[in-house]
Amino acid sequence: MKPAPFAYHDPRSVDEVVDRLAEHGDDAKVLAGGQSLMPMLALRLARPAVIVDLNRVGGLDDVRASDGGVLHLGALVRQRAIERWATTPAPLLSAALRMVGHVAIRTRGTVAGSVTHADPAAELPALFAALDGVVVARSRQGERTIPASELYVGPLTTSLRSDEVVVETRWPLPPAHAGWGFHEVARRHGDFALVGVFAVVTVSSGRIDAARIALFGVGPTPVRARDAEQSLAGAAVGAEAIGDAARLAADALDPDSDLHASAWYRKRVARTLTERALTDALSRARSSR
Ligand SMILES: Cc1cc2nc3c(=O)[nH]c(=O)nc-3n(C[C@H](O)[C@H](O)[C@H](O)COP(=O)(O)OP(=O)(O)OC[C@H]3O[C@@H](n4cnc5c(N)ncnc54)[C@H](O)[C@@H]3O)c2cc1C
Repeated sequence: MKPAPFAYHDPRSVDEVVDRLAEHGDDAKVLAGGQSLMPMLALRLARPAVIVDLNRVGGLDDVRASDGGVLHLGALVRQRAIERWATTPAPLLSAALRMVGHVAIRTRGTVAGSVTHADPAAELPALFAALDGVVVARSRQGERTIPASELYVGPLTTSLRSDEVVVETRWPLPPAHAGWGFHEVARRHGDFALVGVFAVVTVSSGRIDAARIALFGVGPTPVRARDAEQSLAGAAVGAEAIGDAARLAADALDPDSDLHASAWYRKRVARTLTERALTDALSRARSSR
């Protein structure tokens, strides 16, 4: 199939982008890497009257790490650029990116595009939720920041307004002594995951200080396992704490059954992957005292 007809704009500045979005509202779609939008256009799952292409806007490909340990990524930073960044300060970001589709997709696809597309089976939105990331959105009214906890409202649906463009994603990176774990199950390498889990932990004197767990493929949005996180805070490092947390994480899920997997299977796999992710995270964590 071919896309339905649309008008195409390729502005040179963010001000022009937000003018076009303000003019066309719900009829317009922003184009970044096109790795999700173009297939949706071709299948006519999206039929915007207007496409606003970001690719000629200058200044959106900046990568900057601030002193507070926050990674600032402009809206046109490609997934592959971060994956290949030799000094990536967060190895779990590279690990996550390596599981996103294939090299050709990551070479064109943007980090912000994946965060904004909000596919519930995608890696980056879940990692963004685990790290309490923030998007910076611009409209004619000005700029606002939206935390990941308020961004995801449903499958492929965010709290962004149709007149807003994301200009930056901010990734608060875990401290150097934190440990991380990431596991997913997919039918083939490069496929969207059936279930996936990120875990980040900090440890001191044999006890867990804090834990973050986010799952994907198990609900309409990325899911933070808050009960499991709370059960780990202050617990002694060991199999018992890991097992209890994994059970709590899985119990809180309410996934759908679909063509690819039953709800029962997704919950069962989520529990096992959470155990594995926490085990890896705890073995990578260095005690801060
Ligand atoms: C074969 C195939 C396999 C894939 N496998 C995976 C996978 O395993 N895991 C995974 O996570 N992803 C996968 N993807 C999707 C890929 O990661 C996309 O790159 C990503 O989802 C979208 O990024 P993009 O830059 O291509 O955005 P686009 O496709 O250009 O846009 C996607 C959506 O986000 C909106 N958008 C984009 N940027 C902005 C912005 N700055 N401000 C406001 N709205 C914006 C667009 O309007 C559109 O609605 C796959 C894609 C393909 C084609």
